[in-house]
Amino acid sequence: MTIVRLGSVLRIGLAFAALAAVSPVQAAGKSAAGKPKVLIIMWDGCRADAIVNCNVPNLRKLAFGKWQPGYNGAWSLCGKSIDDARGYSFANHASMLNGVMAAKHDVYFNHQHARCRAKEWPSYLTRLMDADPKIKTCFLYACGPCDWNLCADDRVHNKNFGLDCTGECDYLAKLYAGPDAPDAASLYMEHPDDVGHKKGYYPTSPEYIAAVEENDRNLGKVLAAIAARPTFKDEDWLIMMSTDHGGYHTMHGWRDTHSQTTPIIVAGKRVVNGQMAGFPRNMDMPTTALAHFGIDMSAMNLDGRVIGGELASWGPAKSIDEGLAWYFPMLAKGKYLVNAVKDGPQAVNIGDEEYFNPNRLFSNFATNKPCLWIGGCSGTVVGAYLEDSVDMFLTPKPSFAMTMWVRTSADANEEPCIVANKDMSRPGSPGFAMTCGDHTERTGPGICLKFGTSKGEDVKIGTFDVEKGKWTFYAIVFTPEKQIWFYQGRSDGKFHWVCERGGNALLASGLPLHLGQDGTGAYKYNYSQFLDDIAVWKRPLSIGEVKLIFDAGRKKKQVKDLLKIDLKTGADADFIDTTEKAGIGIEKGKK
Ligand SMILES: [Zn+2]
Repeated sequence: MTIVRLGSVLRIGLAFAALAAVSPVQAAGKSAAGKPKVLIIMWDGCRADAIVNCNVPNLRKLAFGKWQPGYNGAWSLCGKSIDDARGYSFANHASMLNGVMAAKHDVYFNHQHARCRAKEWPSYLTRLMDADPKIKTCFLYACGPCDWNLCADDRVHNKNFGLDCTGECDYLAKLYAGPDAPDAASLYMEHPDDVGHKKGYYPTSPEYIAAVEENDRNLGKVLAAIAARPTFKDEDWLIMMSTDHGGYHTMHGWRDTHSQTTPIIVAGKRVVNGQMAGFPRNMDMPTTALAHFGIDMSAMNLDGRVIGGELASWGPAKSIDEGLAWYFPMLAKGKYLVNAVKDGPQAVNIGDEEYFNPNRLFSNFATNKPCLWIGGCSGTVVGAYLEDSVDMFLTPKPSFAMTMWVRTSADANEEPCIVANKDMSRPGSPGFAMTCGDHTERTGPGICLKFGTSKGEDVKIGTFDVEKGKWTFYAIVFTPEKQIWFYQGRSDGKFHWVCERGGNALLASGLPLHLGQDGTGAYKYNYSQFLDDIAVWKRPLSIGEVKLIFDAGRKKKQVKDLLKIDLKTGADADFIDTTEKAGIGIEKGKK
């Protein structure tokens, strides 16, 4: 066995300044903010990461508080579908209307709308009209041959547009311009899901992206019609958007992070700008709508809660080097690897030539910069571990991030660990492992993140499809809100993530964090492939920070090239903008 020890070569352990600001949305009624109005937008099959992979300026305006003067935006890109049904459409759309889970509304699967217990658990539109018969309501749906009338209330202005989302939005825009404008409306658009089933959700197909972007253009007409209302300045709009599920390849509908990581956006005058705390859920939208109208919900026993008032306790730091604990941009010095950032040329003895073969210079960054190659062969265990990493996960509020570039060419029939502190020989053992070759319930084999739980079970996140022979970016982030994020940045520039609840995760194993091995360092399957630009932080990275590192890597810039960037230039404000000139970027940060 050959296991070597990597020193902690860069320790910049500044305390992470949490962006804590909590201020609940207050029930509106007819307040000074104006006459309450609500629009709930339901996009079928919209992955959370579609928000960065697609050009959706209208959604971005809503999310980032830039829709209209006086309007704020709250967003979450780790939203959740309902917990007690698989990621199917009807179950979640019922919840987006009535604010309760499947145990109450009884719709667990598609085409079960007839089972919906709408009398016991009426839609928020019905509840609004019950409270005030003068409130005008509307539910428009474009869902192909389905009869999506889950409201089961003739007082609601229902209309089915088949698959014509454009006609649907034109219709609603016209309604908003006329005397029959609804005070509360739900707008259900099937388009992304329809295309995702045919052409794929992840890895993102061009057709899926086009469908999401077409939805956004159609939404833009509705939003413009709202803003053009003669009475707009006297109105208090709350506009929310979410989805029923995401998707993987051409599928969805199982308990899986690809299906159950969703976008949620809340735009309104009293919404708190920024990333929402925790895991907002799609069924929170109707509850939040009722609160906006000042409806007393105390006896309703809804499962949804009011969202848009509480910010995440974590977010981007001032600079990338905050909390950076280990960093390995490798430079060759004989059989040693030298840290290139700080205290150089302090050699980090990485052991035998098994670890670094100068004839195999496949770095993501330049041909003369070697990457880390975990060598070894069957029966010869090799790997490396991070010094002092055992205690890093012994905290009730996880605070960890790791980014790296991975190049793998082989089909892995075993399950080699790319990074891990988990004992892979014991299923359900504490700790986590990023592995190659495993799969979840219905995904194909790929790159998985697995963690043990207090129930002694393993939870698997992903998988992400392997890009054979190409450098692909990965990141793992654990947040104090018990979110477990797993990212992939692909060679085509698409940036994907999934996020899982980690409330019962046991991330500390008592074993150090290894590269190319499991936590014991004695696992029989080495990761005999390539790693590059490996960085570990003792704080969570925001989505914007992770995307900054990915985008920089595509431009051959390493983490060490980003250390001085002032993130106050808006990594998180910019991450949503995928255009080249938006400048996630290095150049902008160096100004
Ligand atoms: Zn759906």
